[in-house]
Amino acid sequence: MTTLETLRGCHLFQGFGDREIERIARISREESYPAGTTIFGAGSPAVNLYVLKEGCVALDMRVQVGSRKPRDATVEILHPGSAFGLSALVPPYILTMSATCLEPVKAVVIDGARLRQQIESDPQLGVEVFKQLSSSVTRRNEEVIQRLDHFVSIVSHELRAPLAAVESYIQLMLGGFAGEINEKQRGMLERSSIRIKELLGLISDVVDSSRLESRSIAQGMEESSVQHIVDLSLDDVRAAAKEKNIKLRLNIAPNLPHVYVAPGRIRQVFTNLLSNAVKYTPEGGSVTVRGLEADDYVRIEVIDTGVGVPPSELTRIFEEFYRASNVEGKGAGLGLHIAKKIVEAHGGQIWAESPFPPARGRGSRFCVLLPKMKSGQLGHQVSAQTARDQ
Ligand code: ADP
Repeated sequence: MTTLETLRGCHLFQGFGDREIERIARISREESYPAGTTIFGAGSPAVNLYVLKEGCVALDMRVQVGSRKPRDATVEILHPGSAFGLSALVPPYILTMSATCLEPVKAVVIDGARLRQQIESDPQLGVEVFKQLSSSVTRRNEEVIQRLDHFVSIVSHELRAPLAAVESYIQLMLGGFAGEINEKQRGMLERSSIRIKELLGLISDVVDSSRLESRSIAQGMEESSVQHIVDLSLDDVRAAAKEKNIKLRLNIAPNLPHVYVAPGRIRQVFTNLLSNAVKYTPEGGSVTVRGLEADDYVRIEVIDTGVGVPPSELTRIFEEFYRASNVEGKGAGLGLHIAKKIVEAHGGQIWAESPFPPARGRGSRFCVLLPKMKSGQLGHQVSAQTARDQ
């Protein structure tokens, strides 16, 4: 295939006639690269636009999750006819991805600055190029979202099921249903169960962070007792607290009004706050849950004696993947972001205070406000839900 044929076959130049294609060919050259060559790296100036003639090229993006080392994730595999290095047409002309040859590659390399000049001198052509450019960026986005969704389904189904099975076998052994176990074995099984629960929690967080929408959170709302949900969440973290010799205290006001919530989701919020409190509190500390009435809300507080959150980062910790600068080790920085989405979908609020108490210099208090259930709310909410579904 000649340079002209390669350019003609490229979707980016679909609106071009022979004369324009020939003009582009005049500012192009052909280059060959052995397999494994990085044609360009992310962050460098976008000098050229490329059209793939032969072979395969991977476009990779730097991804950093939490405090882990950044890694390259492949966003797209390109085949002959595809254009890449599109940043050469869009200010600030900096490459956002890197391009690596998966096979020996031949490409038509177009001088970016001269191509821009040509497009500027013929605005009609410019419109055509940018139409194609925006449709290929949209398509790439859609493909990435689809691939991510597929990946998330695999993670949730293929990993969750066997882990849940292992966890129930461990519970059977701990319950003595597979014969007697000694104290040493009990300790080991309890620790295994904690690790598995952490992993299951992380998988749920990853799935939720990509899929959770207010609409789906609000499904399954019912009249619920905060005390009951807190009890279930405390059960979720009891083993982890015991392992670190952390005291769990409960102080719920008697006759706390009921709330109208999706109980499984609110349990997820409290369990996240409690497991963070346990995780970020050194051995021998304490974690307290308080529940009280506050105007139109029920207020739940999770107070710990742990490392605390630097005051300048108190709002940032609710951002996706954000982890405060004073913590290390396990964690993806997703739990609080999801907790905030859930609480807000219920018309509530969530925030953090640290140090708590202020005079102590460490420790934190996480507060959640959930609207009190109003008389007649059941009928009102059901009709609101029905209206949303219509
Ligand atoms: P993860 O715990 O997996 O990092 P989260 O979204 O649950 O993710 O929390 C985000 C960040 O908020 C944590 O990395 C930590 O820096 C901070 N954080 C949350 N809870 C506490 C707490 N009880 N004490 C101190 N820091 C906390």
